[in-house]
Amino acid sequence: MPPGTGWPEDPAAADTPVARTAAAVRRLARPADLDALEAAVSVCRACPRLVDWREEVAATKRAAFADQPYWGRPIPGWGAADPSILVVGLAPAAHGGNRTGRVFTGDSSGDWLFASLHRVGLAARSTSEHAGDGQALHGVRMVATVRCAPPANKPTPQERDT
Ligand code: SF4
Repeated sequence: MPPGTGWPEDPAAADTPVARTAAAVRRLARPADLDALEAAVSVCRACPRLVDWREEVAATKRAAFADQPYWGRPIPGWGAADPSILVVGLAPAAHGGNRTGRVFTGDSSGDWLFASLHRVGLAARSTSEHAGDGQALHGVRMVATVRCAPPANKPTPQERDT
């Protein structure tokens, strides 16, 4: 999904700067405020293997989701800007976050996580289905260490470091 084309909660615009190397990731991250940082994250292309994989999955899709658009980009952090709880995942799922555009959303790990958060008052709804569904977090932020879905759910050490 190209940035700035109407995807709900898309933090980026068509002119958001794109990192293509680890050095560029560091340069773009250093002075950014949180919104600018997450916008830059969401268009990053610094890991060639992950860029190829996330976009291939988004184009070929799983049969069950063949009628849905896929996000196919890095998954930005999401939730409170100044949280008391940070939920950290390894990386988004190919047909979960890579499809829905929201971390922990669209696969079974997110189903129990959001239901649990809702039971204790930390999430507005018991389910998280897709960006723009009205879900919101209270005092919680979610991030993935590696922001792009990796093949076989296994990022390389270099991708993790980048
Ligand atoms: S994993 Fe992180 S550094 Fe690598 S392309 Fe995705 S957003 Fe960029």
